[in-house]
Amino acid sequence: MKKICIHNGMIIDGNGEILLDSAIIIEDGKIKIIDHQDVCNHYFDRMINAKGLTILPGFINAHAHTGFKYVNNVHCKGFQEEYLLACINEGITTIRDEGMFTGDTLEDVVIAKRLIERNNNYPRIVTTGKFFTAPKGYGGQAPIEVETIDEVDAKIEELLSLGIDMVKTVLEDGLDPSTHGLPKLSDDLLKVICNKAHEKGVKVSAHVTQSHNLKRLVDAGIDDAAHMVYDDLSDELINEMVHKNIFVIPTLTVSKMISDKYGAPVFESTKKNVMRFVDAGGNIALGDDFIEEESPWYRLGMPKLELQLLKEAGLTNMQIIIAATRNGAIVCGLDKEIGTIESGKRADLLLIEGNPLENIEYIYNVRMVIKDGCIIVEVIK
Ligand SMILES: [Zn+2]
Repeated sequence: MKKICIHNGMIIDGNGEILLDSAIIIEDGKIKIIDHQDVCNHYFDRMINAKGLTILPGFINAHAHTGFKYVNNVHCKGFQEEYLLACINEGITTIRDEGMFTGDTLEDVVIAKRLIERNNNYPRIVTTGKFFTAPKGYGGQAPIEVETIDEVDAKIEELLSLGIDMVKTVLEDGLDPSTHGLPKLSDDLLKVICNKAHEKGVKVSAHVTQSHNLKRLVDAGIDDAAHMVYDDLSDELINEMVHKNIFVIPTLTVSKMISDKYGAPVFESTKKNVMRFVDAGGNIALGDDFIEEESPWYRLGMPKLELQLLKEAGLTNMQIIIAATRNGAIVCGLDKEIGTIESGKRADLLLIEGNPLENIEYIYNVRMVIKDGCIIVEVIK
């Protein structure tokens, strides 16, 4: 593998720091940060002069669904290749797939994941596989329905032994009249799901859109809420989540789409919740709940609308970048490996033209995307 040096650029490390006098060495797929003055003491296969460029950790979409593709109303198994390629081309080096709603089995999900992993030109995939839910509860066509502690134990063992990365559960009364009043998991089973997953060293993400359900999930011990709730989030619950370090993936794109399409006023309330949560010290990660391309809300590649809506909610550009990098890695359970530019981490990098702290849209001026130390995209100018 080639030894690469990137120098002369501005590094935004993902932890909120800006490094101006450092260079990055990439060796064996890993990052090493050195003082800029020491560059001449090393040999490299390639020197990249990043003058005028900003170097960021590869972005992470922490809430997407890669397995959705309908052609002539028939669901295609596997994943959307055009989505994965558009993502990597625009600097998304990791995607957390938040589960299949389709009839696919866990084995199908694992086969798709392995196919994705075999090709370094696709983003890295972290998948929750399927939803743990009550019998006939929310979670798509074929969720993991559990009724007893033994079933939870057995299913988590099975899921992890197959190669699924983490657990997803749900507490949802129904998003619309057709699903309203769905059965839900008990507090006891939710706790067992969280405890068992944590015992196995994996995280638990939860689909939730209402704060009374969020409260129960927080008590059960989830690691992140896969959406920001649509109703008003109380200060008490915000403080409890901050205290327990429970992350939120706001998916403002979903709230915006629901407001635009159906006139439900959920976007404004969600947006307010996000800013109150962040102001109280809460951590959020970037994710738009991509399912299928649906203009103008969803597009293939970088979730541009989500970035714009986080900005509109009041986040600073640095807060948005941290959400898209370090925090994304944390909710994937991969923060020891990716998400920040630090010595020893995997070299997943995004090089863009301009300073994204001045204008977040500069993120779209992609000049280079590096994954695991390999240059996947290079725009010659
Ligand atoms: Zn989702």
